[in-house]
Amino acid sequence: MNSSRRTPKGDSPAPLLAWACGFLGMLALGGAVLWTATARSGEGEADPVTATLDDVKSKVYASLDPLDTAGFEKLGPPKPGEWLSIYPEPIQPLETYKLQKPTRATPQRRTIVLKPLGTFSAERRPVLEAMRAYAEAFFQLPARIDPEVALAAPEGKPDLFRIVPMGNRHGSYDKQYDGERILTEVLKPRLPDDAAVCLGITMEDLWADDLTYVFGLGSFKHRVGVYSLARYYPEFWGRRPLPGDDLKGLLRSCKVLNHETGHMFGLTHCVFYRCSMNGSNSLPETDAAPIHFCPVCHRKLGWNLRFDPIKRYGDLEAFYTKQGLSAEAEWIGQRRTRWKDLAAQEARTADPNVEPGE
Ligand SMILES: [Zn+2]
Ligand SMILES: [Zn+2]
Repeated sequence: MNSSRRTPKGDSPAPLLAWACGFLGMLALGGAVLWTATARSGEGEADPVTATLDDVKSKVYASLDPLDTAGFEKLGPPKPGEWLSIYPEPIQPLETYKLQKPTRATPQRRTIVLKPLGTFSAERRPVLEAMRAYAEAFFQLPARIDPEVALAAPEGKPDLFRIVPMGNRHGSYDKQYDGERILTEVLKPRLPDDAAVCLGITMEDLWADDLTYVFGLGSFKHRVGVYSLARYYPEFWGRRPLPGDDLKGLLRSCKVLNHETGHMFGLTHCVFYRCSMNGSNSLPETDAAPIHFCPVCHRKLGWNLRFDPIKRYGDLEAFYTKQGLSAEAEWIGQRRTRWKDLAAQEARTADPNVEPGE
């Protein structure tokens, strides 16, 4: 893929940006910030300065019940070229996450707003409604699709796009849009009052900073993000559609939705398990990652959004089944069964000195 960085750069793309994903920049939250938060908590036994990543990971793994971790694979050393081989990540256990005061839904701001940016063909428009339904099931918050917004710069400003060579691909994909300016000039001024987060979705290709392209990027602070679905579909690559392309495109779109929205709710890249919150350096790496959140990321999200996990897993199973994502439906059904057993076990052991009803 024509996706290499033009110039190496170790900083986050801009102060505004909390992350840029896919082929991306760095998280603005550095390890030092995370460790400082842990030190303030007084809850971690590990010395925040000297504890190694492996020590902390081991403690997190040891804290989890086998019923919770069944079906998940611990993340091993990265292969050359994979995300973690290039970008060492900070570690964010649940207690650290809580201390970082991530964005949370409030009674006044609890809707996930999807905002189509630019044109969607009749062929691709159905993915928007599927993503809306998926957002409701995954985050257990109301989600709606707002009217389409043109990808145009405010009056008097330069164009939002640049023209870039795309090799042998379809000639119409020579425009590439500036993701950072979409955040600040298109989405931020249109953030709805009732939005927990607002997600701009486009079929145009994006870039940010010195990165040749990005799948998505966003701002923690302003609660807006933008995701491109362009590279998930065959027309971008100038090839004819094949059976299964639409389902693969939907699966990728749902992954980018839960991953990027997870960032908007303050989750950093997962270093514990193979998980949808893993960083990804390429489309093949994205495809190889599961769509599910691991036990650590799931508990962060559950703490933040206060959902009922059993209802959530049921809703996700129904979504995957309806969409024909049978492997994902089967997996989440098994997860739901295990979670029921785990919840019963945790209820039995919560406090043996307290009689029911007390
Ligand atoms: Zn990411
Ligand atoms: Zn995870």
